Amino acid sequence: MGDRVRTVARRQLPLRPAGPDTAAALLDWYDRERRDLPWRSKRGKRSDPYRVWLSEIMLQQTTVKAVIPFYEKFLMRWPTVESLAAADLDDVLAAWAGLGYYSRARNLHKCAKAVVADHGGQFPRTEDELSELPGIGPYTAAAIAAIAFGENATPVDGNIERVISRLFAFKGPLPSGKREIKRLAESLTPSRRAGDFAQAMMDLGATVCSPKKPSCLMCPLQQDCHAHALGIEEQLPVKLVKPDRPVRYGIAFLALREDGQVLLRRRPEAGLLGGMLEVPSTDWGDDWLPVDQALTAQPVKADWWPVPGIVSHTFTHFRLELMLLRAIVPANASLTFWASPEQCRWVPRRDLGNAALPSVMRKAIAHALKEH
Ligand code: SF4
Repeated sequence: MGDRVRTVARRQLPLRPAGPDTAAALLDWYDRERRDLPWRSKRGKRSDPYRVWLSEIMLQQTTVKAVIPFYEKFLMRWPTVESLAAADLDDVLAAWAGLGYYSRARNLHKCAKAVVADHGGQFPRTEDELSELPGIGPYTAAAIAAIAFGENATPVDGNIERVISRLFAFKGPLPSGKREIKRLAESLTPSRRAGDFAQAMMDLGATVCSPKKPSCLMCPLQQDCHAHALGIEEQLPVKLVKPDRPVRYGIAFLALREDGQVLLRRRPEAGLLGGMLEVPSTDWGDDWLPVDQALTAQPVKADWWPVPGIVSHTFTHFRLELMLLRAIVPANASLTFWASPEQCRWVPRRDLGNAALPSVMRKAIAHALKEH
């Protein structure tokens, strides 16, 4: 793919090599244009590590716009790491519902407990120590170290990857080029204001150096940008084409008791949507099972009626197509042998809004309970 990057030189090279002047120009721009985000400290004030950590975990694979209401809700309910550590996991999962990637919420809770139990309620300040906490990978560790503690660390997320690959006209394909991009980003990080530099990079990527049609004329780094000079900014970064997501198929059983309770099952702790509640279903396989085979997975013996339509949901690695069967069962209905009380529970319809249900299951329940 690198060979296919077309070069339309806008002006003669060599350019000013990106370096300390680049960082200074970016910081000047940040001081004027920085985004006002709820987790950011006021100018010149120290950042609160709890807020930085919470926002960084929420922002993984999610947009700022989507995160803000969740962040505010969490902060109002659990204003300190101690209060979050003391929370019930089910409450945390329920509050997280809608942000996706529920393992992050489970790790968030684990991490809060670890900070309280092992660090006296204070987040450690170095990348290495932060990386040892649950759910904190290299990017998040570097972001917290730089933003909350001013350590000389360089977080590199998708936005920063794009800015750096364009600044240096780096044509190596991602993801294998990530290590080199990180090295280039480190070479620009100033020893003072590393946190502001990281946030400035994030802001530049989010507001100016956008994936399509970057606003190079308004960019404070235009003088240093090799991709812009070559006219190849929109072709960078080079990404390997991902194969199509496979599709998995499942049949789910929405049992509604005459007294208005819905049967839910808890998923295993490890793996996808770990520990969340769901509508009991067949395994999710390469095709829908024939109905007689699917019925061996029914959680309660009943007359099941197909709900017209399919619920479709896209996960990171596959797309799920869920067919729903619905049954009204008596209040004393007994569960089939595999639907043990440890796994399955009846939940009143009015409490479903507060249950730890992932988005896909909220969709499935809404679909099955809709009158057709
Ligand atoms: Fe991005 Fe354009 Fe700025 Fe280069 S000049 S960093 S491509 S916005």
